[in-house]
Amino acid sequence: MNVFRIVDSDAFAGEGLRTVVYVAGCNHACPFCYNRLLWNPNIGQKIDEDVIQRIDDDLDNPNIDGVTFFGGEVTYPPNRADATKLMAYLKKRHPTKTNWTYTGYLFEQIKDLEMMKYIDVLVDGPYVQRLNYGIGKSKWRGSANQRIILVQESLKQNKIVYYRDFDGTELK
Ligand code: SF4
Repeated sequence: MNVFRIVDSDAFAGEGLRTVVYVAGCNHACPFCYNRLLWNPNIGQKIDEDVIQRIDDDLDNPNIDGVTFFGGEVTYPPNRADATKLMAYLKKRHPTKTNWTYTGYLFEQIKDLEMMKYIDVLVDGPYVQRLNYGIGKSKWRGSANQRIILVQESLKQNKIVYYRDFDGTELK
């Protein structure tokens, strides 16, 4: 798996302040994709000890609430083995820091992947330009079809459990 970019601290990639990892490789080809450059799985840097250490160090910062995986597509099939290892490692090292993962797949298509054990919140579904109502109306999502899902609760209950905003609204 290649990593294109790491942003140490971002306030718009999920709850709180987050370290954002932009992963290379995507097979969804959503029309009007905001990041076509990252369809190419060979762009960026191969994940290695230095890249892992950089993310690890970011998560040591007490002001950082967790890690967010953007893409590209972290669940792109050739990325899955490395991504699972990385997520497992980060969860072990930083059990209180959350993992938010963005994917073009639907939860139902990837719920059995091993990496799902380490993801707290999944923002799922392809980007649909006509459903982009702007950041004010679609918090944390590019388009309104995308769901914000509490992964562990959903796996336990065998049904989709939505993330609730601070005012109790389900983000579905
Ligand atoms: S899933 Fe994301 S990166 Fe992939 S094509 Fe769709 S918008 Fe682009």
